[in-house]
Amino acid sequence: MYRRSFLKEITLFAGACLVPRIHYGMEEATIMTVAGPIKSSDLKFTLSHEHILVDFIGAEQVNKNRYDANEVYNTALPYLVDAEKRGCNTFVDCTPGYLGRDVQILKRLSVASGMHIICPTGYYGAAKEKYVPKHAYTETAEQLADRWISEWRKGIEGTGIKPGLIKTGVDKGPLTSVQKKLITAAALTHLATGLTIGVHTGDGAAAKEQLEILASKGVAPSARIWIHAQNEKDLQYHIDAAQRGSWVSFDGVSKDSAKDHISFLQAMKREQLLHAVLVSQDAGWYHVGEPGGGNFNPYHYIFTDFIPALKENGFTQQDVDTLFIANPAKAFTVGVRTTAKNK
Ligand SMILES: [Zn+2]
Repeated sequence: MYRRSFLKEITLFAGACLVPRIHYGMEEATIMTVAGPIKSSDLKFTLSHEHILVDFIGAEQVNKNRYDANEVYNTALPYLVDAEKRGCNTFVDCTPGYLGRDVQILKRLSVASGMHIICPTGYYGAAKEKYVPKHAYTETAEQLADRWISEWRKGIEGTGIKPGLIKTGVDKGPLTSVQKKLITAAALTHLATGLTIGVHTGDGAAAKEQLEILASKGVAPSARIWIHAQNEKDLQYHIDAAQRGSWVSFDGVSKDSAKDHISFLQAMKREQLLHAVLVSQDAGWYHVGEPGGGNFNPYHYIFTDFIPALKENGFTQQDVDTLFIANPAKAFTVGVRTTAKNK
């Protein structure tokens, strides 16, 4: 740890004197977890969109006194340990602020389970903006971005724990003005931090509009993950987004959705676009406000059923490794991606 930061300082110093814009001293590709940075090559099998804890009460009432942190920890830990035993080594918790994000619980779970956990900065503007805090209506995109950039620079809520992605959300297109502002703030945050932007998205039209906003700030499509692409049934939207360089995430894998997911993936494979696809379950979680956290949907379906089903439907082990190892390692690697530099 000491050696790494020492090297960074040296590189920064050399960069300042000799070679401007030397990637800010980052000597190797990095992914940010709740326990600190790891190398992209440390990331193995990844569940790229899941949840530990969600509180649906709304932005005005959400707070950490609404649940017992030890109860959340004790409830979630066995599920994470189970996923780890099945071969998962990285887990992306997609709960942003004002929806129950609690990074201290995530860090405790990471230490106890041995799982790398990635958490987000950003605000969720879907669900008719129920989870958008009031200040997002009065502040500019620049001011919102400053708040998120500060979480990256100083850590979240005084913990020193840093986000590994920007998570935001919009409903179906066309986007509302505050949703547009959130995407603009995400673009600005990306340019300052290199964090990837994951957007919960209502439909293909909304996904397309996001790319236009990102492009207006010079952010490349490869900086964006289209979350819940399975909500859009018109395959052409998936294909167009992936061809433009965006990540396309089919993340609601379950017993009920498996057939649809396999056909989406078959289409992407036919188009030779599997390299742009992420797959996860959007499973979990401790439901704040329900006794004992309510019904916790476990994380094992992908391992027990979905991967065997993929194999029965013509997918190779190499395809599986692309979807669950190579793609997440690329998607969550921190690095500024601009249209000018073409990645
Ligand atoms: Zn989710």
